[in-house]
Amino acid sequence: MHIEGLPLLSDNYAWVLTPQSGNGCAVVDPSEAGPVIEFLESRDLRLEVILATHHHWDHTGGIAGLLEFFPEAKVFASEIDAKHFAGTTDFIGDGDVFELFAEEVHCLHVPGHTLGAVAFYCPKSKAVFTGDTLFTAGCGRLFEGTPEQLCHSLLKIRELPEDVLVYCGHEYTQKNLNYALHVEPENAAVQARLAEVDNQRAQGRPTVPALLKTECETNPFLRSDDGALQAAKGCSDAVSLFAHLRRGRDSF
Ligand code: ZN
Ligand code: FE
Repeated sequence: MHIEGLPLLSDNYAWVLTPQSGNGCAVVDPSEAGPVIEFLESRDLRLEVILATHHHWDHTGGIAGLLEFFPEAKVFASEIDAKHFAGTTDFIGDGDVFELFAEEVHCLHVPGHTLGAVAFYCPKSKAVFTGDTLFTAGCGRLFEGTPEQLCHSLLKIRELPEDVLVYCGHEYTQKNLNYALHVEPENAAVQARLAEVDNQRAQGRPTVPALLKTECETNPFLRSDDGALQAAKGCSDAVSLFAHLRRGRDSF
């Protein structure tokens, strides 16, 4: 599949997925319909599938409008989160696998940001769509779940192959890296990535997607089970370090 980001609202990304041939396409997390329809029309693409990582309006707000334009489109969403918005045709849960443009899509239930949040993992394309659960260099806020849930959800995503690209729902990398550096001022990998991201942003370039390997090295929320980091922050286990880091980020 070819994957292209569409910047929407102030800092959201919807992801447009197209197969090698044909004019079908899928879109992940359309926050608004107008710009997506405009984009698809400019490419002569027909929307066949919508994937929703979670129920928040800035990820689902465009679904109703897209369905008016493409009434045949299927909507895949978590059986838990789907009750918060209209249009879901295929209710998914953890471990479900479906086919999209001759590729497997694996559904991972990753609660914490919302109770039904899912990540869509496409092994063949080496891509994972994480919504607001795992951000590049950070993670989403705890709106509905517990620190324990989100901590485990992130460690579950970390189990994917390290050459997978992380496609998240917002352009938050720069702010997240400033926080990561605040957490570990001496971390050379964080320093280097921040310099690169500052440069990308100064040129108005997107910083998403990012390699999972890079995330494992520079995203503090993926390192909650790191004994040295736990000790440095006076925490005794992964969940308490995760909760400590998340609290710090909330007020950063
Ligand atoms: Zn959200
Ligand atoms: Fe969001």
